[in-house]
Amino acid sequence: MSDKLQEEPRRSRGRPKGSKTNRINFRRRMQYTITDDKTKWNKTQAKKYAWCQFSWYIRLRDSKLTTKTFKAARCITCNGLYSINKIQAGHFMPGRTDSILFDERGVHAQCYRCNVVLAGLWPAYYRSMVTRYGQDVVNAMIQAWPGENKDYSVEDFVKIGNRYKAASVMIQLKR
Ligand SMILES: [Zn+2]
Repeated sequence: MSDKLQEEPRRSRGRPKGSKTNRINFRRRMQYTITDDKTKWNKTQAKKYAWCQFSWYIRLRDSKLTTKTFKAARCITCNGLYSINKIQAGHFMPGRTDSILFDERGVHAQCYRCNVVLAGLWPAYYRSMVTRYGQDVVNAMIQAWPGENKDYSVEDFVKIGNRYKAASVMIQLKR
C-alpha cells in the first residue's frame, strides 16, 4: 500500500482492489490513518492514530508467529483462533498508561472475550508471558510497572503511529 493511496481514501482510485476482507481491513485502518493534516490533530486524535497503527502491527506480528499467516492469530490467553480483524491487542499490565501503552513485549493479540469480558485474564496471560519471554523478563516488567508518565506530545504520537505503520508494511514483506 503506497503512501499516496493512504492519503486519498475518499477518491475512487484510492480504493484497494481485491478481496472483501482486504477492503474491510483498508477501511478500518483508514478511519484512523487519514485526517487531512496531521499537524492539526489534537492529542486524542494523534493517540488514536498511534494506537491503531501499533495495534495493527501487534496483530500482524502475532498472526505471523502463531499461524504463519497474516489472516488469523491465536489469543495469548485462550489460544483460540481469530481473524486478524476481530482479534484485539491486549495489554499484559493493567492501566493503559502511556508508559506501557506501546510496549511491544507487553501487548499481544488477544480475543475480545479474554481482553474485555474477562478483563485480560491475567493468570493465563502471566503463564504465556513466562513461556514466551522467561521468568526474569516478566519479573522485571512487573517491577517496572506502572513506570513513569511519559506525557507524549501530538508529534510523539504521530511518530509512533508512522513507525508502526511502516513496521506493518515491513513485516508483511519479510515472509
Ligand atoms: Zn481469548
